[in-house]
Amino acid sequence: MPPTASTAACLRVALPVPLPRLFDYLPPSGETPAATDVGRRVRVPFGQRELVGVVVGSGPAEVGDGLRQALAFLDPQPLLHGELLDSLRWLGRYTHAPLGEVFATALPSVLRAGEPLPETHAWAWQLTEAGRTGLAGLRSGTRPQRLASLLGDGPVDEDRLALELDEWREAARSLLKRGFAERVAVPASAVAPAPQPGPVPNPEQEEAIATLRAASGFSPVLLEGVTGSGKTEVYLHAIADCLARGRQALVLVPEIGLTPQTLARFRARLGVPVHALHSGLADGERARVWAAAWRGEARVIVGTRSAVFTPLPQAGLIVVDEEHDGSYKQQDGIRYHARDFALVRGKALDVPVLLGSATPSLETLHNACAGRYGYLRLRRRAGDARPPSVRILDVRKRPLQAGLAPETLQMVEAALKDGGQVLVFKNRRGYAPVLLCHDCGWSAHCPRCSTEVQSTPLTVHAGGGRLVCHHCGHRQPRPLACPDCASLALQPQGVGTERLEELLAERFAGWPVLRIDRGTTARREGLQKLLAQLGDRPGILVGTQILAKGHDLPNLTRVVVVGVDEGLFSSDFRGGEKLAQLLVQVAGRAGRARKPGEVWWQTHHPDHPLLHALINGGYESFAAAELVQREAASFPPYAHLAMLRAEASQVEAASAFLRAARHALEDAACAGGKAPEVELHGPITAPMPRRAGHYRMQLLVSSPRRGALHACLDAALPGLYALPEARRTRWSLDVDPVDLY
Ligand code: ADP
Ligand code: ZN
Ligand code: ZN
Repeated sequence: MPPTASTAACLRVALPVPLPRLFDYLPPSGETPAATDVGRRVRVPFGQRELVGVVVGSGPAEVGDGLRQALAFLDPQPLLHGELLDSLRWLGRYTHAPLGEVFATALPSVLRAGEPLPETHAWAWQLTEAGRTGLAGLRSGTRPQRLASLLGDGPVDEDRLALELDEWREAARSLLKRGFAERVAVPASAVAPAPQPGPVPNPEQEEAIATLRAASGFSPVLLEGVTGSGKTEVYLHAIADCLARGRQALVLVPEIGLTPQTLARFRARLGVPVHALHSGLADGERARVWAAAWRGEARVIVGTRSAVFTPLPQAGLIVVDEEHDGSYKQQDGIRYHARDFALVRGKALDVPVLLGSATPSLETLHNACAGRYGYLRLRRRAGDARPPSVRILDVRKRPLQAGLAPETLQMVEAALKDGGQVLVFKNRRGYAPVLLCHDCGWSAHCPRCSTEVQSTPLTVHAGGGRLVCHHCGHRQPRPLACPDCASLALQPQGVGTERLEELLAERFAGWPVLRIDRGTTARREGLQKLLAQLGDRPGILVGTQILAKGHDLPNLTRVVVVGVDEGLFSSDFRGGEKLAQLLVQVAGRAGRARKPGEVWWQTHHPDHPLLHALINGGYESFAAAELVQREAASFPPYAHLAMLRAEASQVEAASAFLRAARHALEDAACAGGKAPEVELHGPITAPMPRRAGHYRMQLLVSSPRRGALHACLDAALPGLYALPEARRTRWSLDVDPVDLY
């Protein structure tokens, strides 16, 4: 439609605001909208503010009161284009989130704020035509002449010039003045030490490497192998092949897997710069890595969850290490799953996606078993390490000290005397999970949080001196006396890592005891330093999840898991899967050494089927049994879920919103007169009904067909923003929720 008097050519802009729509703006003065504007950032007025948005289209719009003019384009050419733009649009549809918020999540904060794409190049000098012919005429031995002859073989970067020639800048200025030389931008230093060779792949690795080499186009492949089976070696070969084809590789790792050790290994083996992207980077650095990838200069990018948004104009391979890891799911804002989005991008980019794990998620396993993914396995440990043996220790009726049985303490002592290291694993930080009055039964609770039956207990920290809520961060000093009966008999109940550390340090006074949890390793390098202190000496590590993965401990011979029972009766449908993954991962830490490893699980439920499935048939047999149960109960991967959550300071506000949402979803599900394929459960109070003072309710939407679920959400969701009830509550939609909390 050609513009008429009342319409004008406008830009359609996605803005980072929580509204399910795009916004029309007149182009900045002097500009005419064009199809090539799509993907450029633009600064626009919005209410009293200015916002940075992304142009997603153009077309005629009514020139009415509301139509304002954009202030300026921020990019000379589209920043988001091609595959990444398409994939992000897909993500917006899939998460049912405003596109502008999806873009804001994908862009580094510096770019989100409207800064220009940072420079990533280095500067070099080269001879001009005139320089090449005039070279002979320069007086020999002078600095300009020496510089010119240095440049005779092509451009030389400034770092090298500084090494080779004193006062080269002056010489360069003199050549520049004569028109003999010029300064040019070159890709940032692509020089790295020559690649070091790795171990010779064993036959299973060889087969995996060959399969990936033969893969053409999109092919998802699961690489299953226990810790130490040589998965990373396979990644390294696949990446080297990808680099040899002149393509970029993206490697995603879980938050705790991205260690300096990992990066050093990649750098040494690949012989190209390896760019890291993680939460510890300064904003400017993050943007520079993103820009280097955007320009195709960064060839290998290793990063955590949000690195899945890295532009890959010359993509050749995506690797997702520990694909089952919970840290890949973003739990607020745009609730994407980095592994799933990596698969979407791999398909759009037409490149292989390699998913590695010792304990694949049931979704991935289901896809691999159904033949939708390639399925490669490394059944043996690489080198000559042997698998650890696992033993169930029945602790019923046993006297426990800080949760440890006498047999366990004896085993620890024997292992230390034998010169080995012991890992004592307990997935609970702090000193004790509860502070109890022995005289009247009072216990310390968070004033701002509660569960279905009671307020949430505060965890005792700092050797008993401080109380902390692990849900909202509330802190208070430990009371000296019971607030109810004034008794002084306040006792920490239960066991956290601090208490284990205290007991072990006392009992094994001659040996080092290191506690490793979020309390002791707040900084990324903290863990490295602690482990370096210990070295190969005999000693004890006490820790949480952080210790389950990532660091080679070649002298670790014994592992004790103290809190197995807490995971056995979780109300979450993924509770069993998470426990099984944890038990296998923790066991994987033992016996990477030449000495055989041994793993002990302390439990009050020695006959629990989950433990027996794991011991007798390994993760595979556990997973097979668990998939049968998931199918019977209509849970993922046999059903598709979306969770609508609402929080408000008044419980009635949250509940009213979800009731209205339920009506809208019911109407959408029944539209077209067909039998609804979508089930609604709720609204019900969340498993944790009050957190940080807010009441929480939820409504679960499920369907056996993904398409049906999304059709229903598509139809109902825009209306939810407009509900009057929406104004009094904070609500969010989580497609494919990882847990139902
Ligand atoms: P994963 O990633 O499965 O934990 P890695 O690739 O890190 O396993 O390998 C574990 C250890 O075994 C590393 O020290 C690695 O150098 C070594 N390794 C891997 N493959 C081989 C092989 N084919 N021969 C000898 N050692 C190997
Ligand atoms: Zn009391
Ligand atoms: Zn709290």
